[in-house]
Amino acid sequence: MGPGPVKSMHEYHFQAIHDIIKTMNRKQINKFTYAVNTIILLMVFGLMAFFWVLKVPFLVYFSIPTICVYLIGYVLIITGHLDIYVWMVYMWLTLYMCVTTICLGYDFGFHLYCMSMISVMFVTEYLAYKLEEKSLKALYVCIAVGLAYLACTGYISYHGPVYDVDKSAAGLFWSINSIIVFGFLIFYNNWLIHMIIRSEESLKKMAQTDKLTGLFNRHYMMEILRKKKDKDTCLTIADIDHFKVINDTYGHSGGDVVLKALAEILTENLPGSDICRWGGEEFLILTPGQKETVLKAMEDLRTAVEKYEFIYEGRKMDVTITAGICEYDSSLSVDKWIKNADENLYRGKNSGRNMVV
Ligand code: GH3
Ligand code: MG
Ligand code: MG
Repeated sequence: MGPGPVKSMHEYHFQAIHDIIKTMNRKQINKFTYAVNTIILLMVFGLMAFFWVLKVPFLVYFSIPTICVYLIGYVLIITGHLDIYVWMVYMWLTLYMCVTTICLGYDFGFHLYCMSMISVMFVTEYLAYKLEEKSLKALYVCIAVGLAYLACTGYISYHGPVYDVDKSAAGLFWSINSIIVFGFLIFYNNWLIHMIIRSEESLKKMAQTDKLTGLFNRHYMMEILRKKKDKDTCLTIADIDHFKVINDTYGHSGGDVVLKALAEILTENLPGSDICRWGGEEFLILTPGQKETVLKAMEDLRTAVEKYEFIYEGRKMDVTITAGICEYDSSLSVDKWIKNADENLYRGKNSGRNMVV
């Protein structure tokens, strides 16, 4: 494969990785944030009723701008301004925590809420970095929130709460608020780690496969070869005959159709083999079995390719392959093993092509 196609494939790969982060994570995060926003909004309504029962009018009124913040939150989520949403919610949550704690004291456990967003803040910064977008530093924001927490709980220690309310429900609220904060932290982090694992897995798969054919790529095949080299395994290099002529006759797209179809034929005919697109129109195949068995399998493959009807834009293309095989023996390095198979391939090419050597 020439330097041209290699470079463009890398660019293609980078673009694909970027797209996956952008689409897959974004969609899931949007859905999740939407649900969280709804839950918080319902909680704000519930708390508003509770403050009314406690006879703390200031907190009842304070609930109104809070409700507005979460309604604006929906707009931000729908229009894709998740970063602004997260910062807004965290700032308001901190303010809400300070106000409720100063009014009621910390017996109700409202001050715990400021901790719930710490991992969300760091994840927001991480996603912004991945998407090459700007973001505030989570570290500084979290330090500021921690200081606000210290200030309002410190104020309470010295001055006591502004309102002297009935504390009979304080224990219950302490428990409910603790459960909500712990529950959120546990489930959020659990969801997060699974999303990261899924995303890593699809990235790993992308890094191991060739985009056009879906076969393993050269880099991953080298890893397989180093792991699986063993006696009773054979390495085959198969190369399409006169592929340049196919490209010249049917165009590059016609050539690509051949490459894709051939990848399917290889996969179907060689179950149990590791198959890789080694270069432009060369395939490297690792097959368990002794030389005689593999030779027979490759001969069947060669016939299957010869008989297969490759069709492009209604025209039938004649495609044949030449293959060189080399059995592993312990004196061979991986590079030498490949070189030997390659030498057999070129013997085949020089003896008229469409054959297995
Ligand atoms: P031989 O029988 O000796 O193997 O001749 P050949 O024409 O098949 O071999 P050569 O190495 O001269 O040409 C290989 C061609 O494969 C040249 C290159 O443009 C083409 N090629 C490489 N990668 C791709 C690709 O991804 N798609 C298409 N359509 N063509 C490709
Ligand atoms: Mg060729
Ligand atoms: Mg070639």
